[in-house]
Amino acid sequence: MPSEWSGFSTSRLPTPPREPGRLQNGEVLPSPSSLSATARCPCLSGNVYGDCCGPIHRGDAVAPTAERLMRSRFSAFALGLPQYLLDSWHPSTRPATLDLDDGLRWQLLEILRTVNGGPFDTVGTVEFRATYRAGGERGELRETSTFTRDGKRWFYVDGVID
Ligand SMILES: [Zn+2]
Repeated sequence: MPSEWSGFSTSRLPTPPREPGRLQNGEVLPSPSSLSATARCPCLSGNVYGDCCGPIHRGDAVAPTAERLMRSRFSAFALGLPQYLLDSWHPSTRPATLDLDDGLRWQLLEILRTVNGGPFDTVGTVEFRATYRAGGERGELRETSTFTRDGKRWFYVDGVID
């Protein structure tokens, strides 16, 4: 089971600051624009990336609801954007680093239930099922994630895996 969603597997040791968009080994991260703006968004909202999670990943827009943040985080997992995942993680629970598993391909997101998390709420939960492939095998993760709003921005706080 991938534990990166809830941060259990990630190191909490402090790391030296690094250039944004660059991994510690010097490898350059794929930029959010590496997915065409007209491609179907990985969160499966039905919209194209350029009208959905793309602007949120680039910082040109904020997710107005907890569910939108959840979707943008799923897309970030699917596209391999650890910096966005860290930036959208609440500082109180954010790991120091996040190593995404290259062997894992996130494929499907289903939002099962959303409680609060609207533009005027300060807390919200989103229950979802995410499907992935790893080494030819299909797996799924079911989690209820908690989000909190700070100003206009929603942040992921933590999750309980069902
Ligand atoms: Zn999207």
